[in-house]
Amino acid sequence: MAILDIVYYPDAPLTSKAEPFSEVELGNDLYALATNMVETMFTHDGVGLAGPQVGLSKRIFVLCEPDADPMCFINPEISELEGREEGEEGCLSMPKIYAMVPRATKLRIKALNESGESVDMVAENFLARIIQHEYDHLNGVMFPDRLDIITREHLLREWLEMREQLHEPSHLNIESRQ
Ligand code: ZN
Repeated sequence: MAILDIVYYPDAPLTSKAEPFSEVELGNDLYALATNMVETMFTHDGVGLAGPQVGLSKRIFVLCEPDADPMCFINPEISELEGREEGEEGCLSMPKIYAMVPRATKLRIKALNESGESVDMVAENFLARIIQHEYDHLNGVMFPDRLDIITREHLLREWLEMREQLHEPSHLNIESRQ
């Protein structure tokens, strides 16, 4: 297992549309990739992580609801979105920035899992929110893009300041990289 590096906004490939896995690629073992993504997500206390967030412009994401097993979705398709509710979101590619984001409360998702099996499920509430957030990453969309322009600009400014602080070489950072 390996912990992958997280890409910070607005670095590539976060703002690009990710490519689906081809038939040939789907024949490869994607279990190791999914496992590494889950490990990376847990290391950073996240509930979801998409391919572009680890520098892979491919349509894959993993997630884990509290007190549940992690799940992996490959080449996902979302349909039957219903309802609308605001809830707080953050993002591992924009750490320490949070906002209330409107999302559908229910959806259907079809995908393949890390073992190549078909998944077809209905998700509600927090799970539906995580899925929409991660699915957005596959289309180059970050959560502030879901907000009004003033809030979005405010959050992006806040993030760019935060990012500079995160990049400051400090004793703590040097230690944590070892
Ligand atoms: Zn995110």
